[in-house]
Amino acid sequence: MLKSINTLQIERTMIRMEMKTEILPASDEKSIEKAAALLQNGELVALPTETVYGIAADARNGEAVKKIFVAKGRPQDNPLIVHIADFDQIYDLCPSVPPQAKQLAEAFWPGPMTMIVPKGDCIPDEVSCGLDTVGIRLPSHPMARALIRESGVPLAAPSANTSGRPSTTTVAHVMHDMDGKIAAVLDGGACGVGVESTVITLALERPRLLRPGGITLEQLRSVLGEVDVDRALYEKIGDDVKVSAPGMKYRHYAPKAPVTVVRGNPQDTAKYIAAHIGDSTGVLCFDEYKNIFPNCIVECFGSKDDLGAQAREVFDRLRAFDDTEVTQIWAQCPSDEGLGLAVANRIKKAAGF
Ligand code: AMP
Ligand code: MG
Repeated sequence: MLKSINTLQIERTMIRMEMKTEILPASDEKSIEKAAALLQNGELVALPTETVYGIAADARNGEAVKKIFVAKGRPQDNPLIVHIADFDQIYDLCPSVPPQAKQLAEAFWPGPMTMIVPKGDCIPDEVSCGLDTVGIRLPSHPMARALIRESGVPLAAPSANTSGRPSTTTVAHVMHDMDGKIAAVLDGGACGVGVESTVITLALERPRLLRPGGITLEQLRSVLGEVDVDRALYEKIGDDVKVSAPGMKYRHYAPKAPVTVVRGNPQDTAKYIAAHIGDSTGVLCFDEYKNIFPNCIVECFGSKDDLGAQAREVFDRLRAFDDTEVTQIWAQCPSDEGLGLAVANRIKKAAGF
């Protein structure tokens, strides 16, 4: 019988609504095995990494990978990072590994760094979105690596949030965005780094930083010497512009209320914000200033001098505003040194630059 498109859409929605997302606890020794079996069956499983939670699928299975785009509402031109558990797996994914990739891997893997390299044939277009390159990362989180090993396949895994929303750093965040849309989530507690991996491309004439993250620009330069910085880190890029990391042109990390960032010396920015707040205002600030914004919803994201805490807290605190009635958010922001470049990038992107 022929069905109208509307009926098909409703049926598909019903099927998705009926999926029960199982939480697989770290304490159960069968959890990794169960998650691996789901992945081998072409299902989606959220997994903890040291950066943020990811939604994983078998990277060689184009049909499974397509489900990630549906679950996230991810734009079709934004490619996925492939996760491996041992360096030698890179040779299956990339026919000619550049010498710089080995240098970077030696210095920063396992860890929060993704390299873009030429892609081999086993990576389907669903992962690379038609590019001839692929992003590869070897995470340090023991559960992520155990799952990659147990499933026996490389895992394509973007952050486990609805596209455009702040990334997820706890199982509660993952369930908020993905309950009913994925088969399971492996519970590894809160993520240690808190912002996503650094993305560096080795597929251009010179190495170029595409996304700041857990490994800093200074660390990359200490290994490679010159590293360029993509302009998408500093300015808003129009949807129609071709960029090196397609993901960088989209609005990201945004809570529901609009965000305004004030940059500069923390003391001065706190004073500036205090002088400009109005009714129903939310303030994202360093711990030191939490008491100077009367009648506001205040979310602190670490001491002004503790970039590690700021990276761990920033997405959780941005998400917290969504449980409130705030209609605007003012935010403090660290300077661009070290891990500050990654934290500042996430806050500026939350504000749409
Ligand atoms: P996420 O989806 O949060 O894991 O972010 C992945 C980031 O890596 C996005 O900004 C992607 O656009 C970028 N990325 C992944 N694969 C590639 C690739 N082959 N070339 C350039 N950027 C990539
Ligand atoms: Mg993401």
